[in-house]
Amino acid sequence: MNATTIPATTAPVLTFGGVSVTRVVESVGSIGMTPDQFFPGTDASVWTEDADALRPHFLESDGDTAMASTSRVAMQTWILRSDGKTILVDAAIGNDKDRPDVPSWSHLQTDYLDHLAAAGIVPDDVDVVVNTHLHADHVGWNTRLVDGVWVPTFPNAQYLFPAEDLAFWDPANDNATIMGAGAHTVWADSIAPVLASGQVRSWSGSHRIDDALTLESAPGHTPGASILRLVSGDHEVLFVGDTLHSPAQLRDVHTSSCFDEDTATAHTTRDRIFSEAAERGLLMFPAHFGGHGGFTVKKSGDSFAIVEWAPLDAI
Ligand SMILES: [Zn+2]
Repeated sequence: MNATTIPATTAPVLTFGGVSVTRVVESVGSIGMTPDQFFPGTDASVWTEDADALRPHFLESDGDTAMASTSRVAMQTWILRSDGKTILVDAAIGNDKDRPDVPSWSHLQTDYLDHLAAAGIVPDDVDVVVNTHLHADHVGWNTRLVDGVWVPTFPNAQYLFPAEDLAFWDPANDNATIMGAGAHTVWADSIAPVLASGQVRSWSGSHRIDDALTLESAPGHTPGASILRLVSGDHEVLFVGDTLHSPAQLRDVHTSSCFDEDTATAHTTRDRIFSEAAERGLLMFPAHFGGHGGFTVKKSGDSFAIVEWAPLDAI
């Protein structure tokens, strides 16, 4: 795995060649959905046989059985420092947002900006904001409420939005989505203000941020869903966004979350990315994994299994 943990009084940092990676957490805990609710049609054996491995970081112990327990997820940002720039990967849920369809995400008051500050980051210093896709839990801190107006949280940053997601979620296009009309509030408070400020760069296919960092299309979860590939020195790491939400999806790549817009494409994308990671021993960091956050995998038959966790403190 070759990553080193640098002891820090603030947030833990990993280094991969010339790029450092810091984890900043907004929240971690139950998402309030059992496996059947979060992953409709999921094979119970994936959960029951792996329950000991899924607990405590990915499955709560709040039910009598694994299938009666709720999934545990982290809302967090991966901060990359590369080539003198500070890059935020995904922007969690945010404060003050009205989310009528998801009460537990509505009108939050978290100390996320304090967590950023503890990692040595003030909003003015952020150069690039990556939204791997445009779901509510990835765009929240794009903006904050100041005197009743939504303004970009990071005034000097370029915001990178996948073009396919911009088209898909734009209320003007009236697309049928899993999220329904609830997504319109996300657009209004977290996307439109950044478009209006002129800070958005949309991209399609792939987008090179610098010599070490490249965004790549990974559709299925949403049409514009993407991953970020880090290549520096001998190191290569994948930030895989919402390609998966639980280790259960490694064991069975056909396990789709209820938030995957196109399940067939999501299956294909998972298999492609996990196969490459297994073949080449690449660390993967999903957006929502608690615990140690990242891992390497091996492939056996049609399924994948975790080989080693990233050397991050478990949350
Ligand atoms: Zn998400």
